[in-house]
Amino acid sequence: MAYQNLKVWFDGEILDYEKVKVPVLTHSLQYGSGIFEGIRAYNTDKGPAIFRLREHIERFLNSAKIYHMDLRYKKEELEKAVVEVVRENKLNECYIRPFAFYNDDQIGLSPFGKKVSVFIAAVPFGKYLSLDGGTKCKISTWKRISSETLPIQAKASGNYLNSIIANLEAKFAGYDEAILLGQNGYVAEGAGENIFLVKNSTIITPGPQADILMGVTRDTIMQISNFLGYTVVERNVHKEELYTADEVFFTGTAAEITPIVNIDGIKIGDGNVGNVTKKIRETYYNIVHGKVKEFEHFLTYVNEKL
Ligand code: PMP
Repeated sequence: MAYQNLKVWFDGEILDYEKVKVPVLTHSLQYGSGIFEGIRAYNTDKGPAIFRLREHIERFLNSAKIYHMDLRYKKEELEKAVVEVVRENKLNECYIRPFAFYNDDQIGLSPFGKKVSVFIAAVPFGKYLSLDGGTKCKISTWKRISSETLPIQAKASGNYLNSIIANLEAKFAGYDEAILLGQNGYVAEGAGENIFLVKNSTIITPGPQADILMGVTRDTIMQISNFLGYTVVERNVHKEELYTADEVFFTGTAAEITPIVNIDGIKIGDGNVGNVTKKIRETYYNIVHGKVKEFEHFLTYVNEKL
């Protein structure tokens, strides 16, 4: 077990992690039919604060809705549960994983009528793509799944096979992470990150029409960019625009702001982390740690009663 002495919220109760058991034949384990979220809490002067909790819970509920999953818990109840898990585990900084799944081990594909369970775990977590000097990426030969095939706005386990195959292809070829193009050939996103490029001080990112998960961090970065006075454009991006960009970076709850310094063996800019990326990353860290009053509304302080 990777984690010990954790407390998890499971169907309304706080339980010891070791004691939560599901049968190996559980539907969501066999068929990838779970839905989930990834949220971070950061330390601040007022103790741990959960970043953009409301938006993550809203996306969680939307994922459930798309898949006809009745979670039985309202937005406020789930928010409260997340706060409780962070508090119970006495973690100042952590990664929070809400997960809903068909808790039924009867063999059979259709989840119709099967019991849904929800758990929320919070674990210590550092940097995800722990590469302050920047990542090396490969444009995947696998295309991002289109929302004609699967609802891409639902953060569902099964979608991640597309991410996993692309990530493995990149890793086996000696890169850190994959970048996926959409079915139309334009840039979509990373395996588990949205992507931005900087060209002549303009910040560009694929828009909502691209087959991307509308990331909470993506939205934060767009707001930060406006706050810092940069122009942000959402539009289709050709892959060669990435090669010739001044700067490229990933965004995501886990990835935060991860600079990309090399794609397919081509140096991005001069191969170092760019100044715009640095500025945005610094502002992001200040915001999540509660140091920017204009963005304090994004924080849910764990020690303040909900
Ligand atoms: N795209 C994909 C495919 C992801 O898995 C993630 C991580 N949730 C993101 C983008 C970034 O989303 P967020 O900023 O909400 O974490």
